Amino acid sequence: MNQKLDEKARLTEEETLDPQDWGDMRRLGHRMVDDAMDYLERVRERPVWRPVPENVKAALRSPLPVEGQGAGAVYEDFRRTVFPHGMGNVHPRFWGWVIGTGTPLGALADMLGAAMNPNIGGGDQGANYVELQVLNWLKEMLGYPEAASGLLVSGGSMANLVGLAVARNAKAEADIAQEGVAAARRSMTLYASAETHNSVRKSVSLLGLGRSALREIPVDDDYQIDLAALRRAIDEDRKAGRHPFCVVGNAGTVNTGAIDDLSAIAEICAAENLWFHVDGAFGALAALAPRLKPLVRGMESADSLAFDLHKWMYMPYEVGCALVRWPEQHRAAFVSPADYLAHLERGLPAGPIWFSEYGVQLSRGFRALKVWMSIKEHGVSKYGRLVAQNCEQAQYLSALVTASPELELMAPVPLNIVCFRFAPRGTDGGRLDKANEEILFGLQESGTAVPSSTRLGGRLALRVCICNHRTRREDLELLVREVIERGHKIMGESVRR
Ligand SMILES: *Cc1c(COP(=O)(O)O)cnc(C)c1O
Repeated sequence: MNQKLDEKARLTEEETLDPQDWGDMRRLGHRMVDDAMDYLERVRERPVWRPVPENVKAALRSPLPVEGQGAGAVYEDFRRTVFPHGMGNVHPRFWGWVIGTGTPLGALADMLGAAMNPNIGGGDQGANYVELQVLNWLKEMLGYPEAASGLLVSGGSMANLVGLAVARNAKAEADIAQEGVAAARRSMTLYASAETHNSVRKSVSLLGLGRSALREIPVDDDYQIDLAALRRAIDEDRKAGRHPFCVVGNAGTVNTGAIDDLSAIAEICAAENLWFHVDGAFGALAALAPRLKPLVRGMESADSLAFDLHKWMYMPYEVGCALVRWPEQHRAAFVSPADYLAHLERGLPAGPIWFSEYGVQLSRGFRALKVWMSIKEHGVSKYGRLVAQNCEQAQYLSALVTASPELELMAPVPLNIVCFRFAPRGTDGGRLDKANEEILFGLQESGTAVPSSTRLGGRLALRVCICNHRTRREDLELLVREVIERGHKIMGESVRR
């Protein structure tokens, strides 16, 4: 009698986050999938981007919900406020910064990964083997040694941090993991071109070396690192009693897509006993296209390699990868034994690898699933064709720019990035920065296209970076027409057709 009462009490008092009616949740899920597929299938019909309206911003400043409103009502809120106001990077005419497009199956993979909800710190579980599988595929795709270690990370910034942390500890003249950077007798310096991504500077600062440890070497007219200047800087630091320990080579700089002479840097590093790290955030993927592969020659001899899958492999955010040629040095930089994480011989903790010993995160999501499913869905040769296609599109845009007397190409186009500006012959250069900035705002605010901007040689450039599997040549033709029309309007001249 008493026991029955207890049970009844338990049934009414104990709560769960599962739905009361699984049928309702299932129907809601089906609607979400339908809406998501409509969203992607019809993306071309919408503006690329629009400013977030004030009423939406206000709706997203609502008070903390103390009581729940239920799944259906939450989904309606999402549909009204969040869904229509994306960044726009799923659109065929999004070319800002270095941003990938995503895919339908990639999105579904993230949903499945979240349903399984594993924590891939390590252990004998399917997801751990999926990540190992994917890492081996990635090494093979980029021509990197099979024996290398690696892990999936949030992106290129984290991959650079991982690579440079290993570099610092491996090359230090003291036990940095134990004693800290202060134990190094000589100050440690590293080298990268002035065009290097700021995540490298961020890493150097986080690693306790100080941003001034990073020597920013000048670039030549092709925005590649000046090798003579690099050699001189290493030499000067040695003569001054400092400890050069690493060179960061760029496979694709963020401004113009320049690729440093990686083979030459590899030779310098070998001769000088320096760690060779490559930031290949997007450019490393040039290795997938047979015609482009020679551009990144030398990358395979890097001690560590950072690249992204959410950029030029078009996978949903976030996923990047860090590879390290020396697994023991890799692990030594991050491992930190703890009784509560003991790797036992049997049972769940007995898996093949603990990724948490190779990076910053202990708890890690199932990023590997979307990578595994995407590579299997399309096959690596299709990715190679898409990378080549984006580069051909960049050449096409560059040819349109060069052919127009109203436009000026501002940098060479080795990969998928085109920097140009509206600059009709004979116009006063002083007004052009402002005019091109106005063109940029106009393109974005009208929802026509989203390029970004940068400064080259002190001058403002419109910057088009194509990591987009939906772009077609006609999109680039539209861009060129719009830039010229808007440019003339802004400069107060008549539109020439
Ligand atoms: C994007 C980028 C990074 C940073 O990668 P995230 O994925 O944004 O963290 C680093 N280097 C280069 C060259 C990049 O283009």
